[in-house]
Parts: sequence; C-alpha cells; structure tokens
Amino acid sequence: MPTPGRPARLFVAVCSIVAALGGAALAQSSANKRVPPSTVAADDPDFARAVKDWTTRPEFGSPLVDHLPKAAGIPSPKGVLGHHIGEPRKLTYYADILKYYKALAAATPRVKVLPIGTSNEGRELIVVFVGSDDTIRDLETYRGYLAQLADPRKLTATQAADIVAKAKPIYHLSGGLHSGEVGPSEMLMELAYRVAVEDSPLVKQIRDNVIVSITPVADPDGRDRNVDWYYKYGINETEGRTTGAGVPYWGKYVFHDDNRDINYSQVEMRALLDWYLQWHPPIMHDLHQSQTLLYTFSGQAPQNPNLDPILFAELPMMANFEMAQLSKYGMPGVWTHGYVDMWSPGYLAFMSSNHNGMIRMYEIQGFSGANTQKLRLGNPNAAGGRGGAAQPDAAAITAGRSNQAQREWYRPWPATGDFDWSLRNNTNYGETGVLTALQYTSQFPKVILENFYVKSRNSIETGRKEAVAGYVIPAGQRDETRIALLVNMLRMQGIEVGRATGEVKLKEGTFPAGSYLVKRDQPYARLAKILLEKQVYPDTTTRTYDDASWTMGLMSQVEVKEIADKAILDAAVDPVTQVTLTGTVTGGGPLFAVADSGSNNMITLRARLKGTKVQAAEKEFKQGDTTFPAGSFVISGDAARVRSAIGSLGLKAVSLPAAPSVRLHDVDLPRLAIYSTWGGTQDVGWVRYAFDRFEVPFDLIYKEQVRRGDLKSKYDVIVIPHQSGTAKRLVFDIDSRGTPIAYKKSDQFKYLGMYGESDDITGGMGIEGVAEFDKFVKAGGVLVTLGSSSFFPAEFGLAPKVDAARTSAQFYSPGAIIDAEILQPEHPIFYGYDRKMIPVRYGNGPLLTVQTGANPFDPPPPGPPPTPQSVLMRYPGGDDHVLSGLMRGAAEIRNRPAIIDEPSGKGRVILFAGNPCYRWQNFGEYSLLFNTLLNWDDLGSGTAATTTAPQ
Ligand SMILES: [Zn+2]
Repeated sequence: MPTPGRPARLFVAVCSIVAALGGAALAQSSANKRVPPSTVAADDPDFARAVKDWTTRPEFGSPLVDHLPKAAGIPSPKGVLGHHIGEPRKLTYYADILKYYKALAAATPRVKVLPIGTSNEGRELIVVFVGSDDTIRDLETYRGYLAQLADPRKLTATQAADIVAKAKPIYHLSGGLHSGEVGPSEMLMELAYRVAVEDSPLVKQIRDNVIVSITPVADPDGRDRNVDWYYKYGINETEGRTTGAGVPYWGKYVFHDDNRDINYSQVEMRALLDWYLQWHPPIMHDLHQSQTLLYTFSGQAPQNPNLDPILFAELPMMANFEMAQLSKYGMPGVWTHGYVDMWSPGYLAFMSSNHNGMIRMYEIQGFSGANTQKLRLGNPNAAGGRGGAAQPDAAAITAGRSNQAQREWYRPWPATGDFDWSLRNNTNYGETGVLTALQYTSQFPKVILENFYVKSRNSIETGRKEAVAGYVIPAGQRDETRIALLVNMLRMQGIEVGRATGEVKLKEGTFPAGSYLVKRDQPYARLAKILLEKQVYPDTTTRTYDDASWTMGLMSQVEVKEIADKAILDAAVDPVTQVTLTGTVTGGGPLFAVADSGSNNMITLRARLKGTKVQAAEKEFKQGDTTFPAGSFVISGDAARVRSAIGSLGLKAVSLPAAPSVRLHDVDLPRLAIYSTWGGTQDVGWVRYAFDRFEVPFDLIYKEQVRRGDLKSKYDVIVIPHQSGTAKRLVFDIDSRGTPIAYKKSDQFKYLGMYGESDDITGGMGIEGVAEFDKFVKAGGVLVTLGSSSFFPAEFGLAPKVDAARTSAQFYSPGAIIDAEILQPEHPIFYGYDRKMIPVRYGNGPLLTVQTGANPFDPPPPGPPPTPQSVLMRYPGGDDHVLSGLMRGAAEIRNRPAIIDEPSGKGRVILFAGNPCYRWQNFGEYSLLFNTLLNWDDLGSGTAATTTAPQ
C-alpha cells in the first residue's frame, strides 16, 4: 500500500494495486465459500499506523506488509497477543505463540495445526498449515500426491504428469531454530494470518496454489529461555550487547549446533525429520538472523556434486528473484552468495535437499531482543574482509568473507552508514522476502513439483548408471552395536537398507548372509552416498562454513565397503525397518564374561549393573572357542539381573565355569563431574548428551562448585569438554562488567536457572579455581581434558611436562577424519580397539608435546624426538593420513600426541588433543572417553594394577 512521503515506487506489487481499491473491492474479489464476503473488512488503520511508526526508515518497509486486513471472527496476532507483530520491546513466549496459531486454526478452515512431538523440556511441537479452504480440507490427498512424486519407482511418466497437474507444493517455513534470532518466529504469525485472510491477487494466488506450512519455533525451549533473558537484561540494551553476556543456554543441550545435528539426535530436530518424511515438502526454508540486511542463500561453492544439477540452478534463481523484487520495492541490503556454502549436509533444512527437495535460508538483520538499536555499518569503501557485519559473525570473519556494506556483484545495493534498526524492520524484510518466495512458488507451482519429481527420478537413475552402485556393511564385524546405530541412522533418514538373505558375490568380494546392503537405485540414494562415501573436498583453496567430512563408517569405526559392481542392485535382501539387537546370555551363571568389542554400550551395561561386581580382564583370555579381548567384563551376579541388563544393549554374555587366569581389576563408574564455563556450554552439551544417552551419571559443575574447593572429596573424575577459545578464556570466561549477571529461576523468569544456577555468571573460575583443579589432581583425581580444553592443563601448569602450541595461520582442518596411531595398546583406554591405526576426527586441537627431561631452553637434539611413555596415541600426520575431508598443512601435526596420560601427585591428567565426543557423530572414538571413566582407578594397570579375583 503506497504511503505518502515514501520514496517513489514505480513497480509496486500487485497487492498494493488492489489494496488501493479499498475494502469493498477486496470483499467482492473474495469468492470464498466459508468466509462470507462481508467478514473481510478493510485494512486495519491501527496496524498501518503502528508499522509506519516502528519502521525506522521508509525504505525498510514494503508495500507487501504495510497493511493488514481485518477479518471478522478471525483473530489477527493483536487479537490474541494484545499487540501487532514487531512492536518494540515485545517478544512472545512459546505458549502464546501456540495459543495464537490454535486460535487462528479454530477460527478459519484455512489453517490447521498438526502436533508432531514434544521438546526436551516438554513443550508441544507443531506444524501449522495454511492454504485455501479446499487445500486444507484435502490436505491428506495433497500429502499423498507428494509422497507419490517422492518415490517415482511406482509411477509412469504419464502418471507423474497427472499427479503434477493435480498436486500443490508444500512450502515449509521454519523460525526460531536459533533462540537469539527472535524475529522470524514473531513474523510467521503475521504471515500465517495474512495468507489466511488477505484477498490481494498476490496472496490469493499463494493461498490457491501453494500449501504453506510453518514450524513456528524450531527450538521452543530455547525460545522461552531467551525471552526470559531479554526481559531480564536485554530490554535495557541500546547498542550491541551491553550486559556483557548472553543467556547460558538455549535448548537443553546445544546452541547453534541444533543446525549441525547431522544425525538428528535432538528430539526437536528428529520430530521435524519424521514429519518431513511423511509430508515431503519440496521446499524447506529456514529463517535466521545475523546478516545485513537480508542474505538469501544460493548454494554457493563448495558444493556437494552428489546433489542434482537442477537444485544448484533452482537455488540462485529463487534468491535472485527475491533480490530483484525487494530492490524493486526500494529495500536496500538484500544479497546472496558469499556466505553459506552447499557442502555439509548437516544443516536442519538440508533435510529437504538431502531428499531431493530444496533447502532455502535467510539471514535477516536483527538482535537477540526487541529493542530498536543503533546499527553501524562502517565504511563502505573499506577493503573487504571484515568489519562490515553489524553483528560480525566469527566464522565469516575467519573465513575472510567480505564487508557487508560493500558493493559486490552479488550485493548490488548494500546498506551503508549508521541507522536505527527495529524488530519491525526485521519483520518487514523477513515477511516481504517470504511472500516473494511464495509468489515465485505460486507462479510456478508445476515447475517446482516437476523438478521435485525429476530430481527424485534422477537420484534412482544416476544410482543405476554411476560408478558407485551401492554400499555393503559386511556381517561378522566385531561390534554389532555400532553397526546397528549406523544402519538405524540411515533408516531414520528414509534410506532403504536391505539385509542379504544369502551370500552376496560381488567383484569387491563375497559377503556373508546378514550383511547390510544399501543399493543406489532408490530415491534417497544421493543422501546414502553423501553420508557413506569418503569426502573428497572439491576445492582445497576454499573454506567451508561447517565440517568438511562426516563419513559415517569412519566416524563409527564400522567397515563400510563402496561397491561398483552393478550386481549389488539385484542381490536378494530383506528390507530392514529397524535393527533391534537382543543381547544373549548363555549359561546360568553366577559368573559371566562379556566380550569387549568396542561397543559404547559397555559403559551402559556397567551403569545398569550398579551394585554388581564387574571386573575388567587386563589381557585377552579364551573360554571354549570364544576369545575375550582385554577389557572384557567378568561379572559376578545373578543371572536374571545380568540377563535383563544385557537385554536391549546387544551385548553377549557367556557363563564362565571359573574366573579366567588373567589379571582383573574392578570396574566401577567414578563419581563424575563435567566442568562447564558459563560462556561456553554448547560443546559441553554434546558430552552431556552422550553421557545421558549412554546412561552415565554425572554432576554438571561450574566455577561456583570449583571455587568452593575440596573437589576430591566429591569426585573421582572431572571431564572438561572442548570449549572454544583459549585456556585463559576457560579460566576467566565472561568479562565482568562490574554488575553481577545472575542466571537464576524466579517467579517472573521460570526458564532461567535450568542446568545450573549462578548469582553472577561472569568472571570465570579464576586462578583460585585453577588451584582447586591442581589440588584435585594431586590428591588422586583424574582430570580429563578434551580438544581445546587441553590447552588448560598445559598452560596453567596442571600437567607441567606438557606443552601446547597452536597450528599456524596456514593450517586449516574443518573436521577432517585422519589416522591416529595407538602407541600403548595395553593401556585401558584402548580396551575394545583391535587395530593400531584408527580413524579419528581432527578439528584444530592443541599441538601437544611432552618434555623429555632435557633442559627446555636447550636447542632440541637432531632427529625425531623420542616419544615418552605418557603419549598413548599420536597423529602420524601428512596428507597420506587424511582419510576424508580437508586438512591444509597436514604435516604440522606430524607425530603430535593425540592422547597423553600424565601423572601428577597421586592423580593424573588425561589430555585429548582431539575431541572424542564430537557432537553426536564420532561414535568410534566415544569408547576412548568411556574407557577412561570405566578404568579411572586402573589407568596405570599395564604396570601396577591392583589384582583381585572375583568371589
Ligand atoms: Zn541462526
């Protein structure tokens, strides 16, 4: 709707022309059956006034969103929330967001709310559908059409064309995955209302031709916590973050990493995936906010070439359409390219591209609260590289991505200068962009559907033609539990897996019956290949936004064979729904042996057998024909208890007539704590998550508990997970700003104070905390540091003989999978590992060295330094040992320690240079950490273990 005083807009959208005709014309144009024409009234003047008032400059608004119709009996957001969307200093709690959508669905047949699950903290997860009356009435029919197009094996070309003619694309929108990015979850309520009630030709066309579906808040737990934090602290901010800290948690476990949850560990992400595989939206559009003023994803390089070429053409096409339309409306600062690439398949909305649909993404300018704040875009002529972003994104800066106030071919009209930015500006940009994307989709719904069908068909056909015909996970591998985990993760993503009914003879070898086969002539064959193959990074000169590799077989340390022989496509298999392992217990007891084949479930077994005597064999032993490797459990307990504990763990227990003659030591879970800073809880969250999943009990402690001292009386082992930043940051954490910043629950702020409480989260544990950790170790405690936290014992003297250096500026390893060489195979940390060389993930951990007794000020002697006993595992380094992904400067880590076991006083420090508990991903390394816990009191058992015989 043109507004007097706005800059001239020659090419306004179709809706403004109709809006100018007034409400009567609108009413007449509505041919809707269930909403009588008289109920659609004129636009709401109060809304128009408010939007004009809250939009900080005319060019930050648009003719698509400067008006909102009133519809009798149908609540606008204000009708339920009490305010229009985008009002300064107003953010909506999740319960109210649910309340709004439910009220809207109750009032109009054009909206439907579908419950899809429950969040970690018990909040209801929903998907909202918006469309014409007929569309929503026949939703199930439309779901069926998309399901048919998603699996073209059952369709002839004629049938497919017939379905395309009848079907409608679902365009899925999602907000609030990142809780600090608050705007889109507000905006989507207004969008839903607008799509349901506005009768402009544009919106009517969208409503008739597209099914709009919405995830209102992808992480509702984090939403509420962030809104609490905003009302407690953020509401006082005027420019940037002046309170000195963000809220310590979003969701229960992770912050931004819910958008890196490649194996869908978190229940919220899993619920959406399950929904996706039922509904098959060809487009999934995830709304974020961080860039200036609106970045629209176009799938730039590095790109994963397994994905369909059609996709790589569709992405910039839509992004460019949006850029052109918004520029036409007079909105500066819209750009594409130059930010997120198309390499890692782990982003949440990538579930669509992984399944032959299309991932879309925005980054809209915004703040973590609802205050209007000053934005300073710097000098537009500054050399590209950094400093342009209003909220500089660390990854972007490291990656040298360009100044956002600078003109580029992909940013023809940058926003420049300093100006105020409001929540309503964010709403205007987000909603105008989304309406434009929906305009495109409603203009070409058949093209979108056809493309979806053809991409699905191509997936099957390329699988038949290309060099890789499939994958075999051979039966007979030592540990079935990690195979089950891997196969079930493939199944969870809809990938078809078959179990060979007989021997499978292929050029690559003969595989026994029971082997798992993944054939490439299936709709989701691209995803199977992406997940299972070795990642060959396409251009080693480019950086990537997230991980460079994720090869599932390497990450799980499960053998997966790539197969070229097309005969695999005809091999007889039984389809696998899900792998369910049932443990076996043979014999009556009371003495059992459980072979340690590297299963992560060993620690769960120990936890479930609380109170039962469990010991570990320090050497391999035999019972009948069975070999029990070192680390195998010898359990003295009643058979029923053992049987029930083994139950679903997929382990095998065998009755022993007598204790084996090898040395045994008790295996008891330690009194365990995980240490977290207040400023870096995310990577800690992944370790917490893994411990929770494997049922390892622990306390989560912070500086408060550390400073209180006497740690040894409470804990046997303390794990400090990888936390990004330096050792200094680990010690001093969030800068103190003079005023305490509490993270505490109160009647007003119910969601703060979860997962720990503090009267002041700033300041860190300080030197007094370091001293307490030192006392803990010297008194006999085991301190375990992972990844960059291993700088801490090296630099603060807890492991005085260990030094830690940093890789050079040229080194770059965004999560490559590389070889690690086990040097002390007898050490309990390696129980269950049967190879000398194992694949591990390497990010950018410390380059560790252990002093060998020589004066550190003397020049080192010529030749390679001797490797001290305390180095348990090392990285051979060099390009030849990079197994998947990208590592630039691989020689820098040559022969560097990967794990060090350094005694100190009566205790020890175990330093991991890498992260053996990286997200929900490197399952093959988890046992290194779990073994440390299980054998915490016998880590020196190679030399001086206590030996006890079972009773
Ligand atoms: Zn985000």
